[in-house]
Amino acid sequence: MKNRNEPSFRESVDLMFNRAVALMDLPPGLEEKIRVCNATYTVRFGVRLRGDIKTFTGYRSVHSEHMEPVKGGIRFAPSVNQDEVEALAALMTYKCALVEAPFGGSKGGLCIDPREYEEYELEQITRRFAYELAKRDLIHPSQNVPAPDMGTGEREMAWIADQYARMNTTDINARACVTGKPLNSGGISGRVEATGRGVQYALQEFFRDKRDMAKAGLEGSLDGKRIIVQGLGNVGYHAAKFLSEEDGARVIGIVEWDGGLFNASGLDVDGVRHWIMQNGGVKGYPDATYMENGAVLLEEECDILIPAALEGVINLSNAAKVKAPLIIEAANGPVTAGADDILREKGTVIIPDMYANAGGVTVSYFEWVKNLSHIRFGRMQRRQEEARHQLVIDELANLEQVMAGQWEMSAGFKDKYLKGAGELELVRSGLDDTMRIAYQSMRDVWHSRDDVDDLRTAAYLVSIGKVAQSYRAKGL
Ligand code: GLU
Repeated sequence: MKNRNEPSFRESVDLMFNRAVALMDLPPGLEEKIRVCNATYTVRFGVRLRGDIKTFTGYRSVHSEHMEPVKGGIRFAPSVNQDEVEALAALMTYKCALVEAPFGGSKGGLCIDPREYEEYELEQITRRFAYELAKRDLIHPSQNVPAPDMGTGEREMAWIADQYARMNTTDINARACVTGKPLNSGGISGRVEATGRGVQYALQEFFRDKRDMAKAGLEGSLDGKRIIVQGLGNVGYHAAKFLSEEDGARVIGIVEWDGGLFNASGLDVDGVRHWIMQNGGVKGYPDATYMENGAVLLEEECDILIPAALEGVINLSNAAKVKAPLIIEAANGPVTAGADDILREKGTVIIPDMYANAGGVTVSYFEWVKNLSHIRFGRMQRRQEEARHQLVIDELANLEQVMAGQWEMSAGFKDKYLKGAGELELVRSGLDDTMRIAYQSMRDVWHSRDDVDDLRTAAYLVSIGKVAQSYRAKGL
């Protein structure tokens, strides 16, 4: 269980930050300016529910305003506290800088167990929280743009967007006040899958470089790699699904709140997800071995471990026992600073959270741009692109006739080539590009500096460097 020497989440983030800045030559004043959280607003508000007034506590923390708006999700969980919200806001600053999403870092949270409330009650609570934040410009298209996080999703974002619009009836950009909205309320295709998709793209990029694989003692490709995923929520589910269905990886273990499932020949990710939806947990799933203490699966033999739920799940109590040579942090802060030291010493390669789960905010960035431009991506060029491709196909069809029997177009080529890119294809392409470029910037530092032996430090170096540049340019 939790060790007394274990730093808090925020301390962990600060320790990792300090390790990186020790390798930079930033003026101490600037270093401090970047590290500290600018402001945290705490709100307590009452909502009349079930004949009584119930008081809720919520936070919105702004870590850095070197770029505005600031960006970051809103979490609904009973464990939400100021320390956690501030740590998550700091991670947002570094994450956005690393993937070049033009935002500062922020995060919000509401202490609530959403399962205790009916949908109409949750709507009332969410709208009231949104009102409190919007009133202070902590929800605003050009100041502060929330998004989903643990315990929230499209539904909550739609309520928030509508609440903001009601309070700002003449704001033509009102929809850009929050991202992660449903498609019919100004959302974008591919946002729900984005974080999991980003994890997939990150791993694909890792497996493109033999030097990276060698660091983890791995070889080949993602095909056949054994994966254990902790948390089959939105992020874990999409990552596991895409990696198994599209890259040929084998998901041998899934850890959920009520236990773990193991099957050496691979689990059916959709099957397990469906089972959880029906039964509330993994217990009883037929095609796997069930264990009540699911956490033991974190210590099981596998090639890639994907913690995709809570922070601090790999800590001083279990880090030494983790056997996976490669960990990709799909969640925020799943490895504590102490565990990070142990794992680095063992040579475990960790693809850090600020990069690994940045797919969410990347597609949020696309959604925000879409809202501000008031047009769906691809709407202007898709058919024109298809028409030009049709010209090529017609030419090739002529050639086929001339060559009669000697040459023909390969099966499926025509359909694939003719299809112009719609919004989803463009979003995926933009996300893939973003994840590759950001990874390459970390990789360059990792391989070129003798004093950097892990990807997390490399990630911090890149992102702190960018934030510092931005402060310097502003004359601060
Ligand atoms: N909550 C997500 C994160 O931690 C998404 C943030 C966003 O899209 O702004 O990165």
